[in-house]
Amino acid sequence: MAETNPYKNLSRKLTYVREEIARAAERSGREPGEVRLIAVTKGHPIQAVHEALDAGLTDLAENRVEALEERLREVEVGRCRWHMVGRLQRRQAPSLRGRVDLLHSLDSLRLAERLERTWEEGAPILPVLIQVNASGEDSKTGFTPEDVLDGAGRILEMKSLQPLGLMTMAPFTEDEAVLRESFRVLRGVRERLEAELPSWEGRELSMGMSNDFTLAVEEGSTMVRLGSALFGERTR
Ligand SMILES: *Cc1c(COP(=O)(O)O)cnc(C)c1O
Repeated sequence: MAETNPYKNLSRKLTYVREEIARAAERSGREPGEVRLIAVTKGHPIQAVHEALDAGLTDLAENRVEALEERLREVEVGRCRWHMVGRLQRRQAPSLRGRVDLLHSLDSLRLAERLERTWEEGAPILPVLIQVNASGEDSKTGFTPEDVLDGAGRILEMKSLQPLGLMTMAPFTEDEAVLRESFRVLRGVRERLEAELPSWEGRELSMGMSNDFTLAVEEGSTMVRLGSALFGERTR
């Protein structure tokens, strides 16, 4: 039987994606290096992870704790940075400390409080992004653009969390105006936090997925989270 590698086109796709990111960054007056590419390997077998690492990707992500733990067992420690981008159960959250490099989906004060309460002096601090429901869809979790100022203020007081910025998921649509609007809302939230919370230093804007990352970069994204654009359709 002929050997088939479903990821054999990864380096070609990666070249394409990097060029698109660079062009979009230039259109927004920024350097391509200001946008970090995060490869979302969810739904793919471990082969995708190894191909991604061999292709030189340095930031990988999963959206479920169980899947992330599987990856952590399979990949040498320090080989790449790991990102958690999916919704967390409150009871699962403490197990991520010291094991993920960035939690993108800090989506409620209750989750933040749980993390703070279960932290012990000297334990690793968790870098986080505050997830904002920029589009106001009922199906999405996250702070509302109105609540996030108060929430960020509380999170800044917590010793166990280090907020590095904000994350959002745009609506599932091809409507460019709708997509851009939700990215602009997130950027606007960052501006408000910077203006109103003196100790806020979070510069990161995690926004943009396979179908909308060029728009997100044009609107100021510093982290794009790409799955299918790199690995094709998910297999599970
Ligand atoms: C799955 C997922 C992605 C990647 O989605 P694609 O459309 O395949 O690029 C990005 N962010 C989050 C939070 C995800 O769950």
